[in-house]
Amino acid sequence: MPRSGHVAHTADTFSLILSDIEREYFREVRPDLADSLDVAAPSDFFQLLNLELGATPQDIRASYRALQRLVHPDLNGDAANELAVILNIAYSTLMDDNARDIYLQDAERFRMEGNAYDGRPVSKWMGEEHEHRAVFVDETTCVGCRHCTYCAPNTFGMEEHYGRARVHTQWGDEEDAVKEAVDMCPVDCISFVNRKQLALLEFVLKACPREDSAIMARRRSGNMGSKPSKQDPFSRAETWLRQRKDAKIDAHDSSARSLLTEETAAAMARAWLALPQQVREQGWPSFIAKHEEQQGRVAYFQ
Ligand code: SF4
Repeated sequence: MPRSGHVAHTADTFSLILSDIEREYFREVRPDLADSLDVAAPSDFFQLLNLELGATPQDIRASYRALQRLVHPDLNGDAANELAVILNIAYSTLMDDNARDIYLQDAERFRMEGNAYDGRPVSKWMGEEHEHRAVFVDETTCVGCRHCTYCAPNTFGMEEHYGRARVHTQWGDEEDAVKEAVDMCPVDCISFVNRKQLALLEFVLKACPREDSAIMARRRSGNMGSKPSKQDPFSRAETWLRQRKDAKIDAHDSSARSLLTEETAAAMARAWLALPQQVREQGWPSFIAKHEEQQGRVAYFQ
């Protein structure tokens, strides 16, 4: 079976070179926004300090001192400034007993609700290593007709909560079967996507509202207006990426409750990703390991 879609690297971008036919089946988040997408990054202060939830003040102090020495801007230049500031905010928050209790509760909830982006796809990878395309269903458009599950049952399944199709296994079927599913889909909501963008698309999809299927059916028959804009996962992914580029953590904000939001997690990830790679590898080996174990993750509704 031909597997194609090869990669072109330029100075600071990553893009796929596709044939005209492959491009017909392909959709992507704007590549200029989408760098470092497959890298897991800390998204709360406990992760930033390499600590378990509920770590003691002694652990917090020891970890903070070691990391602050490692990332010091005198050693790493301007790229480390922002993370050094965030480490200070993390330290002062977690060393305050009251603020730490509040932050701990928020961190538990934040993780449980799946708000922390870890850069790892949830669908299982069965493709070849050199394959750079993945398959993705835009569940905000899917009408749950099941055609794709008949064409490529080892790739698509029905997700029970919303009754929409979802890819549980990447390349579980031959490419022709997947393309047939794409061609049979009545609402064009299945696409090949850049494998590097898959984790983000699956992540933002969780927060995309799904319309009631009856309303979708009325919309398709022309009895209702057009679909609300900016709700599909591709638009949402681009919004998320723009937020990650601009997000800030306010050093003067003393409220622990306001220090764990999607925006602060995005700011932390951006500052961390700005560090030289060898510093990240040295200071946060568990995140590097997470990235390396990306393959073979269990599908999320099997
Ligand atoms: S064919 Fe399209 S609309 Fe039908 S279940 Fe599959 S993804 Fe959804």
